[in-house]
Amino acid sequence: MSKKEITVQDVDALLQKSWKAFREYRKFPLKKRAEFMRAIAVEIDALGDDLIKTAMEETALPDARLRGEKGRTIFQLNSYADTCERGQWLEARIDTADPNRAPLPKPDLRKMLVPLGPVVVYGASNFPFAFSTAGGDTAAAFAAGCPVVIKAHSAHARTSALVATAIWKAAEKTGMPDGIFGHVETNSREIGKALIQHTYTKAVGFTGSLTGGVALWEWANQRKEPIPVFSEMGSINPVFLMPDKLKQSATDVAKMYATSITQSVGQFCTNPGLLIGIEGDDLNSFLKTLAEEVRKVSPGTMLHPGIAKSYVENRATALAQADVETVAVSDTAAAENQGTPTVASASGQAFLNNPVLHKEVFGPYSIVIRCKDLAEMKEVISHLEGQLTCTLMASDKDIAENNDLIELVKDICGRFIINGVPTGVEVCLSMHHGGPFPATTDSRFTSVGADGIKRFARPVSFQNWPNEFLPDELKEGNPLGIWRTVNNELTKS
Ligand code: NAP
Repeated sequence: MSKKEITVQDVDALLQKSWKAFREYRKFPLKKRAEFMRAIAVEIDALGDDLIKTAMEETALPDARLRGEKGRTIFQLNSYADTCERGQWLEARIDTADPNRAPLPKPDLRKMLVPLGPVVVYGASNFPFAFSTAGGDTAAAFAAGCPVVIKAHSAHARTSALVATAIWKAAEKTGMPDGIFGHVETNSREIGKALIQHTYTKAVGFTGSLTGGVALWEWANQRKEPIPVFSEMGSINPVFLMPDKLKQSATDVAKMYATSITQSVGQFCTNPGLLIGIEGDDLNSFLKTLAEEVRKVSPGTMLHPGIAKSYVENRATALAQADVETVAVSDTAAAENQGTPTVASASGQAFLNNPVLHKEVFGPYSIVIRCKDLAEMKEVISHLEGQLTCTLMASDKDIAENNDLIELVKDICGRFIINGVPTGVEVCLSMHHGGPFPATTDSRFTSVGADGIKRFARPVSFQNWPNEFLPDELKEGNPLGIWRTVNNELTKS
């Protein structure tokens, strides 16, 4: 539905249709859901250069980046389809009856995950394909057995509408019910709220700012029946530069981080916005190289004027704080809507005293914190909020000698990297893209990788049901051939 037309009544009609589709779609075999998802991948591919051209016009992202992201989106749809079909994600558990158990007989209990219902997904600005209309949240919801209504991101509404046509085509070709997918273009908060608060909306997926993610979560909790909101709201992704590692390779580490900070104009939720080391010659040499490298990187056009404006303001606020030193700014002046690569620095004490320095500056910006010793570094960690990622740049000696520090870091992040960069998020089952609040609204779930399907399903136990009336997934003889836990043993038999 386009922006001009949409009303609260339209939202109602859309979700009525979604709910009707849900009653049908939830009963479709896993194979049929997978067939639909693979068909979406084919239709997205068929959009060809038109899709790339439109996304380039709307996001300013370069051709190669968008082609890569399109490939990733197609891969996500296909790999989540495979996972959907394998059925392990259903967590089927069977405990057979024991009528002779004393003092009471044991019932037959069989549990599996069932879909929640229609899911509203808010598309992200920085991934117009992979975290948007047919992105990870949508693929996960379809795999779980849920229809999807997209709230397109205003910054790439035409790209979103094109992808929506691909989903509708795939739905038609694979015989999906009418209402399996809805598309809403709006920047009205009233409509956004109506989508979240409609009785038939049963879950929400979101990637974007803390303000947006929390607003949606609040709307969901004001409902008579609150629903889960899976908001991924970014983080500053702290990197701990351990002393022995810096002694060995300060220059190499600095070069690697200059690239990670400035890649895609820093517009990743995994951008390393905070680098923490210990004062001394090695940290100085790291800072010197980092500054030299960052100065060489030209400013780039940001995703939309709003993000560019926020970057200019947030960067200015951070640099204006007392005790913050500007270490490097790109040698090239920024044009309109461009983000200037920037590195700042402050002492550990300044960081501890000033919460402004803990805030995300979304763009090609990072601050290096100079702690006086390891004790102060631990103090800094204990003042950090929840993060999507944390990274340890460490030698084996650093790791062996810093168990306490490592345990502190583990407590605050969803993905813990050693000797690498946090940018670049692999799509696979072992990925966890999530983290304690405010990185996300629910640290137990991931928004990347097929485990994300579980966000849109809930467990139901069937007690003493006759075999013929049980779902196929739980029947005697395992007719679908999926992995199940039977009397505490994982088996396909
Ligand atoms: P955003 O402002 O959070 O927008 C994301 C979506 O939420 C959009 O559809 C937007 O609607 C809606 N929205 C925003 N504020 C809302 C509110 N208060 N109530 C209800 N809906 C709201 O994110 P963005 O435009 O992508 O970027 C802005 C900032 O978000 C960045 O500067 C950065 O800090 C952060 N960000 C984080 C990530 C991440 O990965 N976590 C990714 C991108 C951006 P409209 O379409 O109408 O604007």
